[in-house]
Amino acid sequence: IAAYENIKKTYGDVEVLKGVDLKISPGEKVALIGPSGSGKTTIIRMLMTLEQPDSGTIKVEGKHLWHKEVNGKLVPADEKHLREMRKNIGMVFQHFNLFPHMTILRNVTEAPIHVLGLPKEEATRRAVDMLEKVGLGDKLDAYPSQLSGGQKQRVAIARAVVMQPKVMLFDEVTSALDPELVGEVLQVIKDLAKETDMAMILVTHEMDFARDIADRVVFLHDGQIEEEGKPKDIFEKPKSERLRTFLSRFL
Ligand code: ATP
Repeated sequence: IAAYENIKKTYGDVEVLKGVDLKISPGEKVALIGPSGSGKTTIIRMLMTLEQPDSGTIKVEGKHLWHKEVNGKLVPADEKHLREMRKNIGMVFQHFNLFPHMTILRNVTEAPIHVLGLPKEEATRRAVDMLEKVGLGDKLDAYPSQLSGGQKQRVAIARAVVMQPKVMLFDEVTSALDPELVGEVLQVIKDLAKETDMAMILVTHEMDFARDIADRVVFLHDGQIEEEGKPKDIFEKPKSERLRTFLSRFL
């Protein structure tokens, strides 16, 4: 569903990604782990079109993300192409980025109405459904400021998933939360993972969560994929010394 090929990215004189190849199959749940600064966030932001690679290609459903084909030639993508491609992708950030002046319900109906062009009734039905699924059916008329961090993050998840993207990106979605609120958010994502055929890429420092939820774990180190495999193999039989060192910090 998504494929990165030889992706490189430099900020100033720091090479953040040094040739990353990563393929995500339809419906696959991939956990991206690695030390701070290894490039995890940069990788997923690229799929959301928030960051552009210096070189390499990214395809979503076989179509170039950052390029557009015109008369058989690839030219840089324009805003219209990016907007169209973005409809396949949903993202939840570390900080919830809700619209503060809108009710919870409107936070979730806004994009289905204005981006997908759904009738208001249909968008509302979908949004209420999603908000019930994340346990917030009783907060439709509340404002973000009235919610806890965990509740806000669950709204952010509902807001992204209601768009029915093909791929959902989660960027350390619990790292800004108080410890006692982490569990409820991880549980919502786990439930979602079980019942959906959306693919997911999850950047996380929660190793138990990664092990539970992922079909595949990808360990990024210093801008490169150092090791990847099934959760069981990655956590119980890590091959690379760097992965062993990284995991030992979580014991
Ligand atoms: P963390 O777990 O800390 O979020 P990460 O693995 O997600 O780390 P990235 O956020 O992808 O890593 O960042 C990789 C490196 O790129 C870091 O050294 C970061 O400081 C740098 N970086 C990221 N975005 C920018 C930017 N817009 N301008 C300059 N440097 C950046």
